[in-house]
Amino acid sequence: LLLVSFWGIAQPKNTDRRIAKPSIGQRVDELLAKMTLEEKVGQLNQYSGDNTVTGPLTINPNKTEEIKQGKIGSMINILGSEYTRQYQDLAMQSRLKIPLLFGLDVVHGYKTTFPIPLAEAASWDLPAIELAARVAARESAASGIHWTFAPMVDISRDPRWGRVMEGAGEDTYLGSKIAYARVKGFQGDKLGDLNSVMACAKHFLAYGAAIGGRDYNSVDISKRALWETYLPPFKAALDAGAATFMNSFNDINGIPATANKHIQRDILKGQWNFTGFIVSDWGSIGEMVNHGYNADKKEAAQAAINAGSDMDMESNSYRENLVQLVREGKVSESVVDDAVRRVLHKKFELGLFDDPYRYSDAKRQQKELNNPENTKAARDMAAKSIVLLKNEQHILPLSKNTKTIGFIGPMVKLKRANHGFWAVDLKDVDSTYIVSQWEGLQQKVGKNTKLLYAKGCGINDTSKAGFQEAIDVANQSDVIVLSVGEKHDMSGEAKSRSNIQLPGVQEDLIKELQKTGKPIVVLINAGRPLVFNWTADNMPAILYTWWLGSEAGNAIADVLFGDYNPSGKLPMTFPRTEGQIPIYYNYLSTGRPAKNENDKIYVSAYIDLQNSPKFPFGYGLSYTTFGYSALKLSKTSIAKKEKLEVSLSVTNTGKVAGEEVVQLYLKDRVASIVRPVKELKDFQKIKLEPGQSKTVVFTIDNEKLSFYDNDLAFISEPGTFDVMVGSSSEDIRLRGQFELSE
Ligand code: BGC
Repeated sequence: LLLVSFWGIAQPKNTDRRIAKPSIGQRVDELLAKMTLEEKVGQLNQYSGDNTVTGPLTINPNKTEEIKQGKIGSMINILGSEYTRQYQDLAMQSRLKIPLLFGLDVVHGYKTTFPIPLAEAASWDLPAIELAARVAARESAASGIHWTFAPMVDISRDPRWGRVMEGAGEDTYLGSKIAYARVKGFQGDKLGDLNSVMACAKHFLAYGAAIGGRDYNSVDISKRALWETYLPPFKAALDAGAATFMNSFNDINGIPATANKHIQRDILKGQWNFTGFIVSDWGSIGEMVNHGYNADKKEAAQAAINAGSDMDMESNSYRENLVQLVREGKVSESVVDDAVRRVLHKKFELGLFDDPYRYSDAKRQQKELNNPENTKAARDMAAKSIVLLKNEQHILPLSKNTKTIGFIGPMVKLKRANHGFWAVDLKDVDSTYIVSQWEGLQQKVGKNTKLLYAKGCGINDTSKAGFQEAIDVANQSDVIVLSVGEKHDMSGEAKSRSNIQLPGVQEDLIKELQKTGKPIVVLINAGRPLVFNWTADNMPAILYTWWLGSEAGNAIADVLFGDYNPSGKLPMTFPRTEGQIPIYYNYLSTGRPAKNENDKIYVSAYIDLQNSPKFPFGYGLSYTTFGYSALKLSKTSIAKKEKLEVSLSVTNTGKVAGEEVVQLYLKDRVASIVRPVKELKDFQKIKLEPGQSKTVVFTIDNEKLSFYDNDLAFISEPGTFDVMVGSSSEDIRLRGQFELSE
C-alpha cells in the first residue's frame, strides 16, 4: 500500500511536469514542423527600421506587410518600448505569431553612455567593465531591445583603424578577459532575465587585422596568428555564454568571412560546439558580389548559408533567394532548418513565446532610463578609464584653492564629442544627457576659483584666429587646462586615418600657450592612440581622456582635482610615428635584436627612428608611487601537470591612496616556434592606502605556458621560462625564472 501510494504520488507528478513543460528543443521542433519554407526563411531575415526613442514611428509599408506575412524574423534599429510594441503587434498578426527579435548596437551604453570600449579597457577593471555592460543591458532591455551587437572582441594592433575604439586593444590576454566580462555583463548567466540582453561576439574573424588599417580591407593572415592572437577573445566570449556571433566584412586569405565554412562551421559550430546563431554583418552577404567572390546575391546567399551564416542582416539575399535555392537543391532544407532552429531557440530562451512584449515596458523604461545608479556607474567607469601619461613637478592634482583656471580648447564645451562614434543616437543627442567638460569643472570648483574659457581653435580647422583670445585667457590664469583631440566622427566605423596626429592646428595652439610660461595640463580626447610627440615632450602634465561618455565632464573634474586618483593603463601601444605601425609589445624575438636604442646597424630597426614606442602597452601613472619587492616563486621547477605560485609585495610609497595594475609577463626562452619577447599572462588591480603593502599572488599553470606548435596543437615544451612582473610592459620591476619539465 505504501509503495503504491508512493508510486501514486511521485509518478504522476513527474509526468505532469513533462507534459506541462516541454523542453525548448521540443517546442522548437514542434513549431518548425508547422512552418512553410517561406516562413522558415523569414526567420533568417533581418531588416532595419529607422526610428529613434523620441522620433516618430516610420514603418515602411512594404515591411509592415512582410512582418505580417512572417517574412521577417528580426529588426535592427527599432528602439523604445512604444515602437518595439507596435512592431511586435505586426508580428502577432502573422500566421504562426512568431515574435520579432529586436537588435541594436548597444556598444557602450544606451541612454547613459559609458566610455568607448577601448577607454574602458584602459581601466583593466573587470568588475567595472562588467557593470558598464550590465547598465547598458538594463536600460536597453527596458526599451524593448533583446539583443545587442556587442561586444566587439577584435584584437587590433593598428591605431589607424577607426574601430580600435570599439575593442579592448592589442592584447589577446587582456582582450579575452574583457570579452568575458562584457558578455557576462550584457547577458548575465541566463537569457530571459529582463535585466539582460543577448550578446553578440563580433566580428568573426580577424576584422582588426585589415591591411594598412583601412576599414573593410582584406586580411592576409597565418593560421597561427588566427589561433594565437585573434581567436582567443572569441573563445572567451563563448565560454561566457555569448548567444550569438556576427561575422565580418573582410576576406581572410581570400575567402570572405561570411562565406567562410572553416571558421563558422569547422571552428565555431564544430570544434567549439557553439549552439547559438551567427548573424551576418550589415549587408555582408550581398557584398560578396563586390568581393568578386559570387556572381550575384543568389550565389552569395547559397555560399553564406552553406558556410554557416544563419541570419542575413539587411542584404535581402536570403529573403530574395533562399526559398528558390532550396527548391533547386542548391541548399539543403536541413541547412535552413538548422539555422532556423538556432534562431527560434533563442527566442524561446528569451521568453518571447510566452510573452512577446515582455521586454517592452514603458514603466520599466522610465525607471531604468532615469536610474541615478547608472549615472554613478558611468562616472566611476569614466574616471577609471583615464590614463595619466605625464605629471612633472606634481602639477596634478590641481589645488582646489587655485584662484584662476583657464579652461581652453575646442573640446571644452562640446557635448557630442565625448560620446564617441557608437553612442546610441537618441534623437537630439546634444540636449540629452551629457555632462560637458566645462559643466563638470564648473560644478567641481569652489566659489573662490574663477574659471575662464577660450576655444582657441576648432578641432579640425586651419584657422588660428582664436589663438589670441586663448593667450589672453592663459595670461590671466594660474594654471591652464587644455582640452584637445578628435571629434566623435574621427574614429569608428569607416573612420580610419592615415595621419593620427592631433587634427587641425591644435598642436600649434599648445605651442603658443606654452610661450605664456603658465603651467599646462593637457587633456587628450580621442578614439584611438594618437601621435603627439611635441606635446608629450614639452607639456608637463597629460591625461589621456579618450571619449568618456555621458559623465565625461564630471569624471575629468574628479581626476583633475584628485577626488579620483588615476589608475588607467594603456591597452594599446602608442607609436612615435605612423611609420612604426604595426607596433605592439609582444613582438617575436628576431635574430638581430638591437642591443640598445642607438644600435641601428644591421639589426631589426629603422635607421631614422628607435624601435621603442612613445608610450608602451600597460603604461599609466598615478598621483602616488608603488614599490615592488620580494618576488618569490613557490618552486624553481615544475612538471606540466603542476602549478607554480608567483608572489610579490606591492607598497604604496606615496602620500595618497591609489590603485595599481600589477602585470605578470612570461617568456618561453627556447621553443620549437619563435616566441614573443614577453606575453601578458595575468594581472591584478589592487588598491593601497599610503604606506600600505599587499601581497599579490599569481598562479601559473600549463595553459599559461602553452602555445600552438607547428601542427597547431596547443602544447607546452620543457625548458626555462622568464617571469617578469611590472607596472607596464616596459617597466619590469621584478624578474625570476623557473624550469618546466615533462
Ligand atoms: C557594423 C557592425 C554593426 C552593424 C549594425 C555594421 O556596419 O560593422 O558592427 O553591428 O553595422 O549596425
